[in-house]
Order: sequence, then structure tokens, then C-alpha cells
Amino acid sequence: MPAVLGFEGSANKIGVGVVRDGTVLANPRRTYVTPPGTGFLPGDTARHHRAVILDLLEEALTEAGLTSQDIDCIAYTKGPGMGAPLASVAVVARTVAQLWNKPLLGVNHCIGHIEMGRLITGATSPTVLYVSGGNTQVIAYSEHRYRIFGETIDIAVGNCLDRFARVLKISNDPSPGYNIEQMAKRGKKLVELPYTVKGMDVSFSGILSFIEDAAQRMLATGECTPEDLCFSLQETVFAMLVEITERAMAHCGSQEALIVGGVGCNMRLQEMMETMCQERGARLFATDERFCIDNGAMIAQAGWEMFQAGHRTPLSDSGITQRYRTDEVEVTWRD
Ligand code: MG
Repeated sequence: MPAVLGFEGSANKIGVGVVRDGTVLANPRRTYVTPPGTGFLPGDTARHHRAVILDLLEEALTEAGLTSQDIDCIAYTKGPGMGAPLASVAVVARTVAQLWNKPLLGVNHCIGHIEMGRLITGATSPTVLYVSGGNTQVIAYSEHRYRIFGETIDIAVGNCLDRFARVLKISNDPSPGYNIEQMAKRGKKLVELPYTVKGMDVSFSGILSFIEDAAQRMLATGECTPEDLCFSLQETVFAMLVEITERAMAHCGSQEALIVGGVGCNMRLQEMMETMCQERGARLFATDERFCIDNGAMIAQAGWEMFQAGHRTPLSDSGITQRYRTDEVEVTWRD
């Protein structure tokens, strides 16, 4: 029964998880939260991760009830993500692997999300909507690859929400997206925003520019409230995501949809996806914030699948990369 330890730190979350044969034994995480109106910069985020990573490692082992001897493999996020945070976490993973004399595995972050979603929900072969601060993709598995059917052509949907939160000086604690979701529940008026679906792809940067201008103008005149804008932004961008997911499901003849990534714990998005799935007689699978927000266990779980399939990352190849597409990895652990 191999146990895999996973390190994740590609953005503002740092997590260390332990997975053994489909069971999450530990999954502690810390989030780097910046003041309202600001985002997180790579250097500061890496400094945050460096300061807490060894405490998290100890916490994960204690929670799992394991020692270093019980760990069979060290998995870490190779990319995609921010360079400095990725690099500082990879250094620790490499060091621990050498100190403990364990094999090392560089994991694609997006595949970590997919494998965690499959493990937690039991979805067998879903069409995946992966939505977060850094990524927006519709993915389906075929012939040993997770194929990208649609994606954003500019910024990620979570980045659009996060940056709008900065305009309104909404708190980043626990996350800007969570606070937008709460404000959106009190929104009453739907402000018309651009709706930008281009085939299977989506675009959010124009919507962000538009709503930044609208906020300045309409809030000053009292035409709408900040809550109305949060509501309108969510309704518009989520409708776009549901549309491209449905199109991919129709194309693949898929009866399952799975939402992963940090934006995936938004209950309004889950509700809209649920409506679409019900209308086509399909099932929706989603997880809560423990597993859809970046975490160590998702890297451990993808690492576990790779380890079982015989993958190993030699030290000489144990770097990081900011750009690492989902479909670059050969998925040898699935039929
Ligand atoms: Mg992510």
C-alpha cells in the first residue's frame, strides 16, 4: 500500500498532503492573504510559502500518523503556476526526497485537480470544467491524454473575479471569490455585460475592463450597487462556462460533468451546472473547498497514480515550469 506525500505551492496556497491507496490521510494548507485592493506577487508569495512549509510537512505527517519511513514517494507541483512559489516548493521536495532516499515525481497541477476530483466524487469518465485563479479549461479524457476542448483565450475566470474584487476593495480573506459570492446573493439588478464565447473558448479580459468602467460610472450615480455588479458578473461568466461545458458534453456524448479548481466551490456555479446537467439527463460531480481549492493531497493523489504506473522523475529533470499544459502529460494510468 504505497503512501505518497504531495507538495503544492503554485499560487497563493501552500499545502502538504498524504494519500495512501485512495485515502486522504492528511491535507493541511495555508493561504497567503494580501490586503484589500491588492493581489499576491510572486516573490512575496514564495517568501510566505518558505516560512511555513516545514511546519506544514510536520503537521501532515503527524496528522497522517506516519513517519518519513512510511512514505514511498515525494510528489511536487512541476507547473503550471508562478515561478518563484513553484521553485521554492520544488527545492523542499527535492531535498526531502534526497534526505529520506525516496523517489521523486513532478506533477502537472491541472492533472492533480482532475485526479483529486475523480477520487473524491467517484466520477468515472467525466467532462471536466477546471476553473480557478490561473486556469479555465474544459477537459475530457481520450486515448491517454486529458484533452483540452475549450479554454480561456486570455485571463482565467478566477483572475477576472479576483481583479474585480480589488476594484471594489473587497476582502481577500478567506478569498476574494468567496466574498463576491456572498455579495452576489444580495444583488437584485442584472447589469448587462459582454458575453464572450468564441466557439469552445471563452474570453474574460474585455468583460473585466467593461465592468471596471461600469463600476466607476454606475456606482457614482447610484444606478446599481456593488452587490448588483457581483451578481451580474457571476451570472454572466458562469453562463459562459456552462455553455462551453455543455457543448463539450454533447460532443463527447458524456453523461458526467465534474467541476474542479478553486472557483468550483462557488455554489451558484454548481447550481447553474446542475440545471444544465439535469436538462440533459447527466450527473454533476463537485467537491468542497477542502479538495477543489489548491491542496497537497491532489498532488499526492496524481503522484500516487503515476507512481503505481511506474513514473519517476530523475533529479536532473526535477525542475519547474510556469507553462505546462494539461495535454502534455501521457496518462498511462488510465485505459
Ligand atoms: Mg489550481
